[in-house]
Formats: sequence, C-alpha cells, structure tokens
Amino acid sequence: MSDFGGAIKKSEIFDFALLGVPFDEKSCFLRGAAAGPQAIRLASTGKALNPFTELGIDLEKEATMVDLGDVDTSGDVDKTFARIEEAVIGILEKKAVPIILGGDHSITFPIIKAFARFFPELDLLHFDAHPDLYPELYGDRLSHACPFARILEAGLVRRLVQVGIRAATSEQREMASKFGVIMMEMKNLKIPLQLESSHPLYISFDLDCLDPAFAPGVAHHEPGGLSTRQVIEIIHSLKAEIVGLDVVELNPARDPSGITAAAAVKIIKEVAGQIVFTRKSKKI
Ligand code: MN
Ligand code: MN
Repeated sequence: MSDFGGAIKKSEIFDFALLGVPFDEKSCFLRGAAAGPQAIRLASTGKALNPFTELGIDLEKEATMVDLGDVDTSGDVDKTFARIEEAVIGILEKKAVPIILGGDHSITFPIIKAFARFFPELDLLHFDAHPDLYPELYGDRLSHACPFARILEAGLVRRLVQVGIRAATSEQREMASKFGVIMMEMKNLKIPLQLESSHPLYISFDLDCLDPAFAPGVAHHEPGGLSTRQVIEIIHSLKAEIVGLDVVELNPARDPSGITAAAAVKIIKEVAGQIVFTRKSKKI
C-alpha cells in the first residue's frame, strides 16, 4: 500500500501512476533491490507525511495519483523486461506520467524502450554515482551496470545527461565520449545546476547518486555524493517537460532506519510536484 500523504487514489483516469518492479537479478554485487518497491510504499504511508510538496503543490487535490501495483517478475529476464515495457506502454497510452519503483537499474532499458515509442526525441537525465555505461559486465550485457549503453546503442534517446558521477572507469568514459554523453561528475559539480530542455525529459534516479550519509540503503556505497537537498534544488531548477521517473536500487536490507526509502519518497513527491508546478505556470 502506498499513500503519499493521501495523494494515492483509486481512479481509471490519472496523471501519475506508480508501478513497482521487484527485480534484482541483474545486480552484479548484492541482491536485495527486489524489495525496494515495497519499502518505498511503506515509507510513503502513515501520518508522518502530508501531500504538499515544497513548491506548495497539494498532490492530493491538484493531481490524481494511482498505484498500479507490481509488474510480474516471475520467469526469465526476457519475459520480465517485456512485461515492464508493456506496463509502461499502458500508462503512456493514458497520457499519464509513469513513476517506476525499482528494482535494480537494469529495468531502465525496457522502460526507455517503451518511452521511445511515444517520445522519439526524448532527453534522459540520469542521477547516479556510476555511469552504468559498461559495454558488458562479467559477460552480461543486461547487467544493472549497462542499461545506458544499451539505450544509446539502440538510439532510443536524443541526449543523455548524467549527474553525480564519481566512479567512472576509462572504458565507460570511452563509451560516454563515443555517444556524446554529458557527464557531470561530482568533482566538477556546481550547485545550483540549471538544466533546460525543450524536449520531453525522463529522469532515471539511482539512489546511490546520494552520498551514503543520506542514503545508505543501496548496494554500492560510493562516498562523496550529492546531498538530498542538492538533488531537490536540481529538481526545482529543471526547465523541461518531465514525462517519467524511475527511482531504483533501494536495498532495504541496508536501510535499517528507513532513511533511504524516505529519500525515495521525497524525491518522487518533489518530481511530481515539479511537473504539476510546470503545467500550472504554463497555463497562467
Ligand atoms: Mn545505476
Ligand atoms: Mn549506481
């Protein structure tokens, strides 16, 4: 059950749809992200939260959010990826914004396959400690370390911007320059960061972009990352039509206090709020 301060409703017509993907078979180090969707839902319930975002948007009154439950991840990976793609297509056909709860980062490849059918000129904003641009890892081309290599090779997006990177290998840097990836590394990052796009923008959010001090509940601890505050500042400064979001790599076994799940909930709220805010300001 998810709640988001009362924002989640039952409705056939909706602006935002949560979709869980309890899948971690493509994690190269630690399993556990399959429990992510449930932990995010749990962190979104209870009286600790209200439906307002920092920009003053009331998600309960100004938007309709539904939770479509989980994608069936039984069976082999090909079946799971096909079901992810199909479920995302179903949401996009309703002209709603999919908010996908991971799961490991491998799921972004089938998600973007679905988006590419609807948005041929899609821009991708990728928050991560890692570029996830390995041509393959341990012989696996579908590893959670590879989704953006697959997305770029297939020509599914117009532009990829990565933020928070602090663990790039030379192999991944080669891939980045080959495909013209804009890699904003932590060592060079100046906040506030003003990002603009005149094309539809999808956000893929790996929770390990955050410093482990703020988000310990991930498989790969990479110190020196973003603060939750810096991420929110970047989200609020975005000048673009945001058309989808995934929040991936929550590993609840490494998150005993629940602070990482709380960060996931906060980011989902602020991105949804930013979308409503942008739509409202266009109408005025
Ligand atoms: Mn990642
Ligand atoms: Mn990562």
